[in-house]
Amino acid sequence: MNIGIIGLGLIGGSLALDLRSLGYQVLGVSRREQTCQTAMERHIVDAASVNLALLAAADVVFICTPLDLIISTLEQLIPHLSPSTIVTDVGSVKSPIVTEAAKIWPNFIGGHPMAGTAESGIDAAQSNLFQGKPYVLTPLENTPAESVKIVGEIVRSLQAKFYLCRPEEHDKAVAWISHLPVIVSASLISACMSETDVNVLELAQNLASSGFRDTSRVGGGNPELGLLMATYNQEQLLRSLFSYRQTIDQLITHIQQGDWSSLANILQKTQQARPEFLAAKEL
Ligand code: NAP
Repeated sequence: MNIGIIGLGLIGGSLALDLRSLGYQVLGVSRREQTCQTAMERHIVDAASVNLALLAAADVVFICTPLDLIISTLEQLIPHLSPSTIVTDVGSVKSPIVTEAAKIWPNFIGGHPMAGTAESGIDAAQSNLFQGKPYVLTPLENTPAESVKIVGEIVRSLQAKFYLCRPEEHDKAVAWISHLPVIVSASLISACMSETDVNVLELAQNLASSGFRDTSRVGGGNPELGLLMATYNQEQLLRSLFSYRQTIDQLITHIQQGDWSSLANILQKTQQARPEFLAAKEL
């Protein structure tokens, strides 16, 4: 099977590495010549080009560009495809992408690998990035079942944990566990920066250790990614943020009133609940 990958960055390059080692013929298209050259030199792909015409021979195409370029890339790709070609993407928000993409290419199935690192670009591509990580597909009711099956088999071959859900469910779920944490973590850093006593601020910076490293990590990431996520998943992110604000207000009230038993009750519940979010279950 020929697999096309557009956008040879962290996710596209990592997918290409794994799929090629599994025996698929991998054709890569990226924006810059230099990236295509690196992909060939590192044997990440079998062939690479800046021209989408390379993908005329692909059976399945993964669009791995930044979120805001997925639809325009699909539009430019369509003239090169045969009607049976399956197109999927890896964008971290699904409803707006899938709704538009399915209108112009009915054989489109949305996807999202829940894997990544803080790095980007072809140099960040690595083998086995998806192994043991969730990978969700978000077909619509009229997405061809055979296409879901084929992309599902590719996903399973990456040894990823395979899930299926509706695009809106995906966006609500990732708002909770991916997008809300970015805003919460950014708020944490921002609030710490508001300390007006420069000595205290400097001391806090010097004393910050593993707890702060864990809780500030996603808020200290690439601003462009945070902005794209908020733009594309605005409604669901706000839904989560309003609920988060209520929870914070409730905690403030307990602390102001010295209601330690209510606070203890909440902290016990969160201690029990956390593992449920960290042990993904295969469907
Ligand atoms: P990335 O490392 O920046 O890779 C994106 C690549 O796309 C760039 O290296 C760039 O390659 C290429 N590109 C840009 N414009 C292009 C165009 N017009 N045509 C073809 N290629 C183009 O970003 P990423 O982290 O892999 O993210 C890619 C997608 O994966 C996004 O949609 C994101 O939502 C999704 N995703 C990311 C993560 C994560 O943790 N990073 C996790 C899951 C899903 P050149 O070098 O040629 O410019």
